[in-house]
Amino acid sequence: MSDITNASAPAPAFPGGTILGYPRIGRMRELKRALESFWKGASTEADLESVAKEVRLANLERLAALGLGRADSSIPSNFSFYDHMLDASVAFGVVPTRFKDYELEHGGFDLSGYSVIARGEGDKAPLEMTKWFDSNYHYLVPEIGPESTFELASLRWVDEFVEAKEAGFVTRPVIPGPLTFLYLSKPSDDAPTGFEPIERLDDLLATYDDLLAELAAAGAEWVQIDEPILVADIAADRSEVLANAAKAYANLVGLEKRPALFVAAPYHSLGDALPVLKDAGVDAIGIDLVRGSVPADVDLTGATIVAGVVDGHNIWRTDLDEALRKADAVAALGATVTVSSSTSLFHVPHTLQGEEHLGEELLSWLAFADEKVAEIVTLAAAREQGEHAVAGALGEARAALKARAEHPGTNRADVRDALAEVDPGWFERGPYSARAAAQANRFHLPELATTTIGSFPQTPEIRKARAAWAKGELSDADYEQAMKDEIASVVRLQEDLGLDVLVHGEAERNDMVQYFAELLDGFDVTKNGWVQSYGSRCTRPSILWGDVARSAPMTVRWAEYAQSLSDKPVKGMLTGPVTILAWSFVRDDQPLGDTANQVGLALRQEIADLEAAGIGIIQVDEPALRELLPLKKSEQSAYLDWSVNSFRLATSGAKDDTQVHTHLCYSEFGEIIDAIDGLNADVTSIEAARSRMEVLPAIRSHGYERQIGPGVWDIHSPRVPSTQEVTELLQLAKDSIPGKQLWVNPDCGLKTRGYAETTETLTHMLEATRAVRGV
Ligand code: GLN
Ligand code: ZN
Repeated sequence: MSDITNASAPAPAFPGGTILGYPRIGRMRELKRALESFWKGASTEADLESVAKEVRLANLERLAALGLGRADSSIPSNFSFYDHMLDASVAFGVVPTRFKDYELEHGGFDLSGYSVIARGEGDKAPLEMTKWFDSNYHYLVPEIGPESTFELASLRWVDEFVEAKEAGFVTRPVIPGPLTFLYLSKPSDDAPTGFEPIERLDDLLATYDDLLAELAAAGAEWVQIDEPILVADIAADRSEVLANAAKAYANLVGLEKRPALFVAAPYHSLGDALPVLKDAGVDAIGIDLVRGSVPADVDLTGATIVAGVVDGHNIWRTDLDEALRKADAVAALGATVTVSSSTSLFHVPHTLQGEEHLGEELLSWLAFADEKVAEIVTLAAAREQGEHAVAGALGEARAALKARAEHPGTNRADVRDALAEVDPGWFERGPYSARAAAQANRFHLPELATTTIGSFPQTPEIRKARAAWAKGELSDADYEQAMKDEIASVVRLQEDLGLDVLVHGEAERNDMVQYFAELLDGFDVTKNGWVQSYGSRCTRPSILWGDVARSAPMTVRWAEYAQSLSDKPVKGMLTGPVTILAWSFVRDDQPLGDTANQVGLALRQEIADLEAAGIGIIQVDEPALRELLPLKKSEQSAYLDWSVNSFRLATSGAKDDTQVHTHLCYSEFGEIIDAIDGLNADVTSIEAARSRMEVLPAIRSHGYERQIGPGVWDIHSPRVPSTQEVTELLQLAKDSIPGKQLWVNPDCGLKTRGYAETTETLTHMLEATRAVRGV
């Protein structure tokens, strides 16, 4: 086989089974630790490079051991030190000019410079971070202007291919696609209004040409170009997107020196972009058959389709029979079919090995990355050799699926009966005017009432106490006392500062979802099930496998204790149903809305108990409401209906004089403003400091009549804003929202902050509030 394919030579055969990507942080989060040590100055760039290389090579060996081919491009090379979109900004030479000083003499960035672009330094703001499609992964937003110069400025993708080749693997480099890259970019600061990054498509394509030539010269037979943007409904006109796709891929297909092109479109259906890619002549097309589908009438004759039949975004064991049926259905449309994961596996943990505490039963229902690779190898064998060749594996999968469906915990009569009793009245509270009057009477809060979002700094002492307790080195009673002491000190601090509505500080919570998952029925938690959230940050989603029920109060004793220490109201603090779902691995055997209502009902009971314990203000956080918004417009209103309903089910039992708060972690309300109104909370706190209250005029013109707390402190950085700065933000807020509807609070919880900046900033916040109140 020749090293280099070109437009006229046929592409090498695509392997029978593959995955779109593999976790890149390391089985024991080696890369996380190496990055953090490098950032602290405790290790060198060479140390970091060597850990990264070990992670990459270990992944290759692992994937080969699981049955992917060493030499047939079935193993993807999808490593990144921090983020794949950042890698693309660096590789295409379009790093914003504010980072010029960090550029190396011969161009490009070393890992220190790369880290500055990711994390900022001094007055250099990092690239903005935002959610990747409808996942909980965050990418760094490229900044593109009319003046940006595109050039191939890094050969890391080529180097990593060569490194693998030297270790005996012919891998498939994975590169963000040109459309995805540009449509997810934002205009650079100096771009004129109206400029769109996609206007630079031709220039970017020239850089892809160079990159593909380099990869071909290095011996890459296939390259994977990820174009998830093609499945999403975005602001840009669809016909423009399709025209750009046609143009981009005609260009890349026509190159003389290039590897075969595999264009992957995870996260949903390609829809009308599928024929566009096929007609452009790309060598293989990846489609997501877990979230999406192909129309039954599309003609795929002659196409190679990489059928994403194994869920890359969730952890359930695959229904292999159904997966084979889906692959066959695509083959029946005329395509040559490869089986694959629906998305990159970097959304799921490495392996179930080491999770034996979950018990044999639950374990047998699950598949993390490694187990999914094994499933794909099984599916490929079934297609190539016939099902009899893998009869054992197919039988095991069938048995596990059956056991899961029949398990009493996945279908509890008590939970089902309780939900069946819910009637429409359970979603409604009394009119806001009556609630507002009752609450004013009860709390006598001043205009511009001050509060915080919930958590106070999670100090090393708190973490140490929790770790010791988990290991059995600290008794329950001693742990309880340590947390109470922490709560007492947080309450005292807030009283000294003069806040109006206090919080208990959430010291007892390892994580705002896992804390509840550990107390509710229907969940389990892993030991090492980490997935990358951004950069070196990982989260450990809980597993929501069964019917959800509350067997005992979850937060009441902490809230009650905190309230006993102060005459001021202390907020009860809960995580909302949508966020609990979004940040867990959720069962896929019933509609999400049903699961959300089960959680909603459990929270409703908790709220009743908090009220009975004398807690008058209760906050139910929904920071993930925006994140789960479907990529397809046609699915959004159904989503917003069930998500808003589950929140209302949780909160509408509250009495009129109980003040319900909610908190949302973003400021882009745009398409969900009706839904936020629909939550019907008495007070909603949002992020607003960085965007300088930009969203408030829209909220005002929407006719929002309840109370709102636009954040005045960007808690994502340790920077302390001055009293003057906070005063200006508050005045800006008052320009849009009447003072009696306004609250004063930070953007989000303070758990990642230290006490020094927390105390100082809250002092400034209160000084600013007094200034704006005019007292
Ligand atoms: N109450 C939570 C906290 O303060 C909210 C966190 C969040 O919105 N992500 O930590
Ligand atoms: Zn938040």
